[in-house]
Amino acid sequence: MAIIETGTHSFDILRDRLRGVVVAEGEPRYDEARSAWAAAHSQHPAAVAFPADEADVVEIVNFARNAGLHVTAQGTGHNAGAHGDRLGDSILVKTSEMREISVNPEHRRARVGAGALWMDVVPAAAEHGLLPLIGSAPDVGVVGYSLGGGIGYLGRKHGVASNAVTAIELVTADGRLRRVDADRDPELFWALRGGGGDFGIVTAMEFELFAIDELYAGMMLWPVEDASRVFKAWRDWTETAPDEVTSMARMIQFPPFPEVPEPLRGRHMVVISAAYAGPVDDGAAVLQPLRDLEPEMDMFGPMPLEGLMRLHGDPEEPMPGASDHTLIDELPDAAIDALVAAAGAGTQSPLMIVELRQLGGAMGRSEHGAGALDRIDGKFLAFTGGLAPEPAVFEQVARVAREAMALLAPYSRGRTYLNFCEKVTNTRSAYSVTTHERLQAVKRRIDPDGVLHGNHRIGS
Ligand SMILES: Cc1cc2nc3c(=O)[nH]c(=O)nc-3n(C[C@H](O)[C@H](O)[C@H](O)COP(=O)(O)OP(=O)(O)OC[C@H]3O[C@@H](n4cnc5c(N)ncnc54)[C@H](O)[C@@H]3O)c2cc1C
Repeated sequence: MAIIETGTHSFDILRDRLRGVVVAEGEPRYDEARSAWAAAHSQHPAAVAFPADEADVVEIVNFARNAGLHVTAQGTGHNAGAHGDRLGDSILVKTSEMREISVNPEHRRARVGAGALWMDVVPAAAEHGLLPLIGSAPDVGVVGYSLGGGIGYLGRKHGVASNAVTAIELVTADGRLRRVDADRDPELFWALRGGGGDFGIVTAMEFELFAIDELYAGMMLWPVEDASRVFKAWRDWTETAPDEVTSMARMIQFPPFPEVPEPLRGRHMVVISAAYAGPVDDGAAVLQPLRDLEPEMDMFGPMPLEGLMRLHGDPEEPMPGASDHTLIDELPDAAIDALVAAAGAGTQSPLMIVELRQLGGAMGRSEHGAGALDRIDGKFLAFTGGLAPEPAVFEQVARVAREAMALLAPYSRGRTYLNFCEKVTNTRSAYSVTTHERLQAVKRRIDPDGVLHGNHRIGS
């Protein structure tokens, strides 16, 4: 396929066919259009398209295929880093104009447009005592998150978000708008749920909502000097914690910014956050062993459902950062000691966060009818990252993050979780051999010429 010239005028034909907007390389709004939430990553697509609806998406895919260009979708750019510098011959389809949502409380279902964020869905669902399987950040895109898996504070009780998806509408490389579910092209439906954005441009998604009668959630904080003691006690507590609770333990260097609450501003702390989906009294009893560790601050209590999306305190503005992660099967004292020695008290580490997410429960079980990421294969997910406002700092923070995760290599089988891979990654690391081959077979059938691609590529 010949690549057409991608100067400003090459895209006029496409522009004339769309209700939405196209901004080509070299045009005045190009820099604004190509920017991503993950602000350390500079994307340089041939053009950026903002479709208004699925008919626009069909036009974009047909135009790109005929022009010998590629197409890739982006909701927010939280995981723009995984593209690397591979967008030069791609039209970047930004779905931010397709944010419509609807909630059906009777059937406990939600339907969202491709650009919807979790913060769009949660209030509408919470109003009916329902929640979707959100992650830790309210401004992450529903579609990108759910295609990649999706693990959050309801995960041990209700599993990975991709397995709660009930139907997906997408435009495939042949320009067809399709609706897939358990009955219509179940193999493509399987691949999309955990296989990522490599199979089509999703225009809408439907998924289950979960009735949560009561929620007991919050954070406890200690000075970072207590990190080793608290992490080890938390690790022991996770051994017997019921599936109703999902927790995370972190060392956080709170920045000295005015928007950080005064008691935390500029401090280096150990933080345990958790949500118990069930009666408040039961939640308090389950959390008691952590309370016995005498935190300096204890913010646990009954939580309105809507509060869950901000429990983690994730940033909601574009952020330049570098990160790394790994899935681990065990967390012995030696692993905790190594992390604390590398990034704990007095280390001057550039790592703002060193996080251990409790997995297991429903996230660790493979249920009938699940998608390509049927379960998360590990006991804990370790993640670390820091701010990287400039390229030179990015390289340094990325290296320190990589080194910190390498400390956990003895306890890992090298398996990755693609939603947390913010760099070019061989997708084989995220699946079993059989699953990856099956995903590749779907990709060959649905997109034989490789017109479409996600940030993480199954096809190449
Ligand atoms: C601050 C922060 C907190 C996070 N917390 C969690 C968490 O708690 N749990 C968790 O599991 N993950 C979490 N993540 C990771 C997050 O799930 C991934 O970054 C995810 O890819 C984000 O989706 P997005 O649409 O917002 O990002 P984007 O970068 O826009 O999308 C990521 C990829 O998804 C695919 N995609 C998006 N939209 C479409 C579409 N319409 N059609 C086809 N493909 C599409 C594309 O391949 C795209 O490159 C977090 C990330 C950050 C930065």
